[in-house]
Amino acid sequence: MPEPPRPAADRQQLVRQARRHGVRDRAVLDAMARVPREEFVPRRCARHAFDDRPLPIGRGQTISQPAMVALMAEAARLDPDSGVLEVGTGSGYGAAVLAELAARVVTVERLEPLARRARAALARLGYANVEVVVGDGTLGRPATGPYDAIVVTAAGPAPPPALVAQLTDGGRLVMPVEAPDHRQDLVRFTRSGDGVGTEVLFGVRFVPLIGEQGFGPGHSRVF
Ligand code: SAH
Repeated sequence: MPEPPRPAADRQQLVRQARRHGVRDRAVLDAMARVPREEFVPRRCARHAFDDRPLPIGRGQTISQPAMVALMAEAARLDPDSGVLEVGTGSGYGAAVLAELAARVVTVERLEPLARRARAALARLGYANVEVVVGDGTLGRPATGPYDAIVVTAAGPAPPPALVAQLTDGGRLVMPVEAPDHRQDLVRFTRSGDGVGTEVLFGVRFVPLIGEQGFGPGHSRVF
């Protein structure tokens, strides 16, 4: 077997950032070393592609901070057989990282132009195991469920019941939850039988989850 190409130096920077934020899962760190983040960032932000912060991707949305993508992927506890639903495709970068770790990824985005761009980037890079769907991700996507993990990349007021219902037994829903005082925590909900376990992981800052089982369409917030 030929040696795999050495990951670009700047992608190694993403790996170091993820480690600094506490990510230890080797498979997740390897995925960060493989996905070309610059392909998901608008051209005008290209020189910031490897900074440890979120970046604007248009329509008031952001590509998540790379370390956050890694932390969420780690929290989802994926293995190569996993089926994953991502809610909030955005740029498609997070979906690519998940696709490196799981067997298949379905990702839902409510804003059609973002979904179209993400779909094109993922296809160009050869991610054949990712399906990009336009719609309200708070309702999940029952047709291709249940899922071993659901990763939500926007903050909602509570875990959408539709998503909990689409988890396998033992499945994990990783999602930022926003309290009435606007503070947000990343929370892992784990389904076991008819019950749901809750683990609050750490404080985060995400754009709002807008949908039937999220915040209403008029939702806005002062940062
Ligand atoms: N994972 C993305 C981060 C996207 S930011 C990345 O790596 O780039 C969150 C995204 O969630 C935004 O694009 C926003 O439009 C989308 N979103 C918000 N509410 C949604 C909903 N109900 N269904 C699907 N997408 C939603």
